[in-house]
Amino acid sequence: METPDISVVIPVFNERANLRPLGQRLVPALEGAGVTFEAIFIDDGSHDDSLDELRAVCAEEPRFRALSFSRNFGKEVAIAAGLDEARGRAVVIMDADLQHPPEVVAQFVEKWREGYKNIYGQRTDRATDPKMRTFFTELFYSLLEKFGDVPLPPGAGDFRLLDRQAVDALLSMRERARFNKGLYAWIGFKSIGVPFEVDARASGESKFNFTRLVRFALDGLMSFSSIPLKVWTYVGLAISIFALGMAGYYWARTMLFGVDTPGFPTLVVSIAFFSGVQLISLGVLGEYIARIFNEVKGRPLYLVAERVGGEKAKKAR
Ligand code: UDP
Ligand code: MG
Repeated sequence: METPDISVVIPVFNERANLRPLGQRLVPALEGAGVTFEAIFIDDGSHDDSLDELRAVCAEEPRFRALSFSRNFGKEVAIAAGLDEARGRAVVIMDADLQHPPEVVAQFVEKWREGYKNIYGQRTDRATDPKMRTFFTELFYSLLEKFGDVPLPPGAGDFRLLDRQAVDALLSMRERARFNKGLYAWIGFKSIGVPFEVDARASGESKFNFTRLVRFALDGLMSFSSIPLKVWTYVGLAISIFALGMAGYYWARTMLFGVDTPGFPTLVVSIAFFSGVQLISLGVLGEYIARIFNEVKGRPLYLVAERVGGEKAKKAR
């Protein structure tokens, strides 16, 4: 089996109706880009009949194959599995819902031939996203921008081409709380953005509801910034200085005007306030410890239940 130029990695979660149209657009787009390729679909524990559809699609097209997870592990992990599987000299990552136009890959390939190794699609607007989501997304990225370890290029997502060197770098990072956007930026390499317009989802709904997005944002913030941990030093310092000031004030007042005891409301309010602050900081510690625990357990990132198509027989993995 020859090494293909490009391995296309496609995470799939309940995308039955999109798989065939995607396949039909993918093949001419890649052939048009003048590369040899394979496409790897990662069925992330779909509970519609995406897997049956993948069996059919892969039976018709020998360059397509698929693996199916034992359950839903999340998009970030599905992408990691795709990178594990990919044999190409470069990998293209794209969504299964046709929001990432396969035709743009030709431009990625052009940049790749020019020597770039980390070529990301850069969305020109967020018109296809709900307003609320756009608001929180922008808030989150501006936070990461200020406090994160690595600068993330604006508008960049998972839709990108990674040279084999970049892929191998990503493969060496086996962290469980995966935040791919941070990882892509962390590895570096010669990078460039290719602007593209995000299409509306071909069929079905976004799999990221509000709670999932919040978890995702927390993973991002905690994996790529230690500011949630460090901020308490400053909060604590500010509160201590304030408390010292108060001590001085009460000392002076007692010396000047004698003893005057009523202080009940201030006492109650400050006890409640400082217990709150302490619990929040403990909670943040807890979040990090839970993550450390998760990493230390060393469980596999994902479990494969089935492989479909391609060189299934030859690869007895
Ligand atoms: N996806 C996945 N696992 C999940 C959620 C999503 O593999 O748990 C896939 C999904 O099938 C799609 C891609 O990730 O191919 C992007 O998901 P979606 O379109 O729902 O997200 P959005 O475009 O709204 O960010
Ligand atoms: Mg989508």
